[in-house]
Amino acid sequence: MILGNDPVLLTPGPLTTSPATRQAMLRDWGSWDAAFNRITQSVCADLVDIVHGGQAYVCVPMQGSGTFAVEAALGSLVPADACVLVANNGAYCERMLRILERLGIAHVALPLAEDQPVSADMIEAAFAREARITHVGLVHLETSAGLLNPLDQIAAVCLRQGKRLIVDAMSSFGALPIDLRLGGIDALVSASGKCLEGVPGLGFVIVRRALLEASGGRARSLALDLYDQYQYMRETTRWRFTPPTHVVAALRAALDQFQAEGGQPARGARYEQHCAVLVREMRRLGFVPFLPPEHQAPAIVTFHAPRDPAWQFDAFYQAVRAEGYVLYPGKLTRGETFRVGCIGAIDVNEIHNVVAAIGRAIDSLGWRV
Ligand SMILES: *Cc1c(COP(=O)(O)O)cnc(C)c1O
Repeated sequence: MILGNDPVLLTPGPLTTSPATRQAMLRDWGSWDAAFNRITQSVCADLVDIVHGGQAYVCVPMQGSGTFAVEAALGSLVPADACVLVANNGAYCERMLRILERLGIAHVALPLAEDQPVSADMIEAAFAREARITHVGLVHLETSAGLLNPLDQIAAVCLRQGKRLIVDAMSSFGALPIDLRLGGIDALVSASGKCLEGVPGLGFVIVRRALLEASGGRARSLALDLYDQYQYMRETTRWRFTPPTHVVAALRAALDQFQAEGGQPARGARYEQHCAVLVREMRRLGFVPFLPPEHQAPAIVTFHAPRDPAWQFDAFYQAVRAEGYVLYPGKLTRGETFRVGCIGAIDVNEIHNVVAAIGRAIDSLGWRV
């Protein structure tokens, strides 16, 4: 892939995009322009298709980063008398809890370690302990560590027990299989700038149409009112407030490339290969992944930092950055770690190259792994 002299972003978003995606941003669109609004509609239709939502689900886009869309979903879909269970195994779960706190929505946290996926049994046991739980908020792929939570099993429990399920699928959407036809998922949230390889700037909620249509007047926020955005768009084809036009155009181009690549199975397979090569070659340098392979999702890998007392993420970052690769700091509460992303418009050569760059950086800093 031709990347020019720009650094390769091995981060969980923003990430490296293709020249064709960036090219799509080289023109201006008006928000009343019918051609632009058709792009929005086609993007939304394709997003629903990726997760097999059919006619039962609609996609509502929301301006802002992914968190805005998570907040819009929770604040617009959860009724006043509800109580949301959130399994907490990382920073994005924690963020969901903080959103609920701010919105004044009752919630129950299920605390877990950052390397411990939540199981369907744990969710079911929480339902048994706390009868007031009506909803589950689940982070599918906890990007803090790169941890995968078992979405299908949890959706099955929610379906069986009659609980609503709102899923933050931010860093899994497009890369991992998600099938709304299985039932159990009421709303799924993701964003333009993660595994779809668009640029950052819009989130979206794919929600059961009937649930959304019953949610009018419920939102705790004017700007993040999902129902209003949906209604206004349905009536006028336009976004309710200024749309992120260039982001939408770039996402259209990114989706065209996603489809040409072979859709989710192909995207997931490419990331799996990146992840496998990354872990294997980093192990060869002496680095140990934080997660066991069975819990590792192919989006981002957390590694323990070298035990060398001189270890400093900033110096490491700068040395690898000088070779053209941007890494990510750790986001764990315990222990020194750093992260390397597997996602973005890159091929496996970039993974070989970044590991080589990491090896040289460690040598030049005089550290022992
Ligand atoms: C990226 C991400 C978000 C959204 O974060 P923003 O900084 O708002 O883009 C939410 N949840 C998960 C799991 C993520 O990876």
